[in-house]
Order: sequence, then structure tokens, then C-alpha cells
Amino acid sequence: MWMMRLFFLLLMTACSSQASPADKQCAYKGKGKQKQQKQHLSVAKPQIVIDPGHGGFDLGAHSRVCEEKEVCLKTAERVKKHLLQRGYRVIMTRTRDEFVPLKKRAQIANLSQSQLLVSIHYNAAKSEEASGAEVFYYDHGESWRVQKSKQAAQLVLSNIISNTGTNSRGVKGGNFCVIRETKMPSILVEGGFLTNPAERTKLCDSKYIDKLALAVVEGIDQYFKKGQ
Ligand SMILES: [Zn+2]
Repeated sequence: MWMMRLFFLLLMTACSSQASPADKQCAYKGKGKQKQQKQHLSVAKPQIVIDPGHGGFDLGAHSRVCEEKEVCLKTAERVKKHLLQRGYRVIMTRTRDEFVPLKKRAQIANLSQSQLLVSIHYNAAKSEEASGAEVFYYDHGESWRVQKSKQAAQLVLSNIISNTGTNSRGVKGGNFCVIRETKMPSILVEGGFLTNPAERTKLCDSKYIDKLALAVVEGIDQYFKKGQ
């Protein structure tokens, strides 16, 4: 019996002890946090890594008037803007004119645990005639990733073609570091040829870049709506 009394005494003491204002605040914050997390889980859209090609001393394809690294960053910034407007979360592998090694880019993507990586590049060829857009995915490794990457590549390319009117060079398997070394579905977009004079003129036009960026985002949106 004395054990029971001791137990009730201890219980009363514990219940009657005043919670400090800090404790109350913590409890309040805790509840708020739980609520926030629930809301977050129900509305959070996927996180996407946008990888603007080249940067710093690595100019990429270039001519007297245009450097690939600049056009890549401009496009990536617009892609980011449109994705954020649609509620997606975005991680950039670079946000300024700096050199980021390819393996580091893949590492950034893998650590971020994002659902998709989109690398943005522009093309170059010996012939000035070469033109159009193409999208690569890594066609080796885990089959689910290959399938998902291919699906994203097809959707992004078809939107680029319909939105910009450029010609399609197709969806292709490619062995590029950023799409090979990442763990999530990954694609590499070649938006056009900087070595083709007519295409270069378009690629130097901000309105065209915005159109292209919007097409990439539309493709990403369709990809996630198709059963992620
Ligand atoms: Zn490139």
C-alpha cells in the first residue's frame, strides 16, 4: 500500500510541477512543426537538380559572340524560375560563372536526394549545317532508372520541338558523367547548335531561351504527372 501512496505522490508532484515558459514554447513549436511537416508531406512537389553545363575556365562550345557556359546558365536560371512557380523544389549545381567538376555535380545531386536531374548544354559541330535539339539519358544500369530517364528525355524533347519549332535529333543513350554517376533518373539536354549561325542567333535571344526553358519545364511537369 505504501508503494501505491508513493506512486501517487510522485505522480502528483510530476503533474503539478510548472512547465517553464521555454518548455511551453517548445511544446507549442513541436505541435506547429508536426502540423507543418504533415502539410509539407501532403503538398511537397518533387525536388529537381538543374545542372548548367560548363562554367569558369570551361567555356564549352563557343564562338566570338557566344559562350555555351553563359547560355547554359541563362537557360538553367529560367528553368529554375518556372519550376519554382509550379511549386517544385530546385537544386542548382552552379549559380554563377564558376568551374564545378563533373563528379562534384553528380555528388551534389546524389546528396540532395532529388527525384530528377536535368543537365543543360548546347551543341557544337564541325559543320555549320548541324542544327536541332537532342536529349540524352544513360542507357545502362538499373532498369527502372533507364526507363524513367528515357521517359523524361522523350517528354522534354517533344516539348522543346513543339514549343520552339526546332528540329528533333532524337532521344539518345549517352555516357556522360552527370547522367551516369547520378542515382536518380537523369537527362542531358542539348538545346541547339552554337556553331549553326541561324540557331546561334536564336540562342542569343532571351525570349527564345525562355521559350526553350518553359518547354523543358513542361516536359518535367508531364513526367511527374505521369505516375511518379
Ligand atoms: Zn556542353
